Amino acid sequence: EYKDMSKERMMEIRRQNCNPMTMKVTYYKKPVYIHQGHMQWLWDVDGRRYLDLFAGVATVSVGHCHPKVTAAAEKQLRKLWHTTNIYVYSPLHEYTEKLAATLPDPLKVIYLTNSGSEANDLAMLMARLHTGNFDVITLRGSYHGGSPHTMGLTSNAAYKYPVTGLTSICLFSSQTMCPDVFAGPWGGSNCRDSPIQTIRDCSCPQGSCTANDKYIGQLNEVFATSVPSRIAAFFAEPIMGVGGAVQYPKNFLKDTYKLVRERGGVCIADEVQTGFGRTGSHFWGFQGHDVIPDMVTMAKGIANGFPMGAVVTTPEVAASFAKGVHFNTFGGNPVACAIASSVLDTMEEDGTQQISHNVGTYLLTELAKMRDKYEIIGDVRGKGLQIGVEMVKDKASRKPLPPAAMSEIFEDTKDMGVLIGKGGVYGQVREWRSIWTVYGQVMERRSIWTGTLKFPVCPVSQDLPASKP
Ligand code: PMP
Repeated sequence: EYKDMSKERMMEIRRQNCNPMTMKVTYYKKPVYIHQGHMQWLWDVDGRRYLDLFAGVATVSVGHCHPKVTAAAEKQLRKLWHTTNIYVYSPLHEYTEKLAATLPDPLKVIYLTNSGSEANDLAMLMARLHTGNFDVITLRGSYHGGSPHTMGLTSNAAYKYPVTGLTSICLFSSQTMCPDVFAGPWGGSNCRDSPIQTIRDCSCPQGSCTANDKYIGQLNEVFATSVPSRIAAFFAEPIMGVGGAVQYPKNFLKDTYKLVRERGGVCIADEVQTGFGRTGSHFWGFQGHDVIPDMVTMAKGIANGFPMGAVVTTPEVAASFAKGVHFNTFGGNPVACAIASSVLDTMEEDGTQQISHNVGTYLLTELAKMRDKYEIIGDVRGKGLQIGVEMVKDKASRKPLPPAAMSEIFEDTKDMGVLIGKGGVYGQVREWRSIWTVYGQVMERRSIWTGTLKFPVCPVSQDLPASKP
C-alpha cells in the first residue's frame, strides 16, 4: 500500500531540493500536507477533509480524480502513452473535433500545448507573424504566464525579477489601466451593488457613469504614447483571475477589440481560468462580453489538472503561421487528449457548467449578504465559480485589510476545512490588495454555508466520508 512520506522529511527535501520559492508559497503558517482528492474534497495526510475552493488555482474542473476521467486515463495508459503527432492517432482527432465544437466560427484550428504559459507564448508568436506587427498590449495587474516572454505580458511585479533587463524580457509589451471599478479611479458604487453579473453594468442611476469611456481613454493614451499606430495583439482574460477576479465595465472588451483591430492587431482571450464553463452562464468567458476573439488560449481546467494547454484560432491566422514549422513533442499527447476528451464528456454528463452557475450564484448571493453586514468585506464579485472577495479596512476608504488580519482569516478558514486562494497582488505599485479568490468545482449546494464571517465553511456532509475514502 502507498504510504506518504513523513511531514518532516517532505519539508527537509523541499528546503534542499525544491524551488526555494515553494517554501514561501506553502501559503499557510501550518502547511497543508495533501494525501488525496475526490471530487470537491481533499484529504490531508492525517485524514482531515477540506472543501477545495481553490481547485488547484482554478484548475480542477470536474472534481479531483473524477471516476470517469480516471477510467479514461487508465484505459489510454494501457494502450499508448506517447507517439509523435507526425503519426495519425485517434485520441488527438477525437479531442480536437470535440473541442472545436465548443467554440464559435471561425475559431476552429487547434494547437495543443502543455501549459498556459506555453499557449500564450505561442499565441503571441502567431499574432506577430500574422499581423507583421510586434507590439502587444495587456492589462495592468494581469497574469499570463511565467515564461520569459509571457512574463512580459504579465503585469504584476510579484511575478517579475528585480534584475535589470529581466523584469520584462518581452520587449514591445505595454500595459493599459485595468478597468477595475472597485479599486480603480472610475466606477460607480452601483457597480458594487450588482455582484451577480459577468459584466458589471457601470451605468449609474441617471446614466451618468462614464467609467468605461475613461478606461478606454487610458487605452487610447497607450496607443498615443507607447505603441506605434499598428499593434500585433491585445491579451485579456474575460475576468482577471490572479488579479483578484476583476470584472470590467460593460462594453470594455468590445470597445477595446474594435480599437485594436482598427490598428491591425488581433484580440486574444486568455481563458486559462475562465474557460470550460467556470463562469456558469457561458462555456467561454468571452461569450459573456459579446465578442469573438481571434485567438483563445486555454489550460488548467482543460484536462482537470493533467498538464495540457491549447491555442485555438482562425484558419486565416493558422495559414500565416503555417509558413514555418512548428512542432511540440508532448502537445497532443494521447493520454492528455484522452483525459481532455473525457473531461468534455463529463462536463456534459454532469452538467458542470450549470452547477458552476447554480452554486456560484448561491455563493455570490450569500457572500453579498456578508458584504452588506460586515465593514471589512468591501466587494463581492465574479461569475459562476470564479469569485473574488475584496477585504478592506473599511468600506469608505476601500484600503486593503492589513496582511496580518488577512492571514488570520486565511489560516482560520483552512482550520475550519475550507481552502481558498489569494489574489490581487499589486507588489510595489501600491498597497497590496487583499482579495480572496474562490473557485470551487463540482459541489453540492449543501457543502457550502456562509453563516459567519469565518467564510463559507463545510459542515460534514452525511453521505460523504469524513475521513479517507
Ligand atoms: N494565464 C492565466 C490567466 C493564468 O491564470 C495562468 C496560471 N495561473 C497562466 C496563464 C499560466 O498558466 P501555466 O501556469 O499553466 O503556465
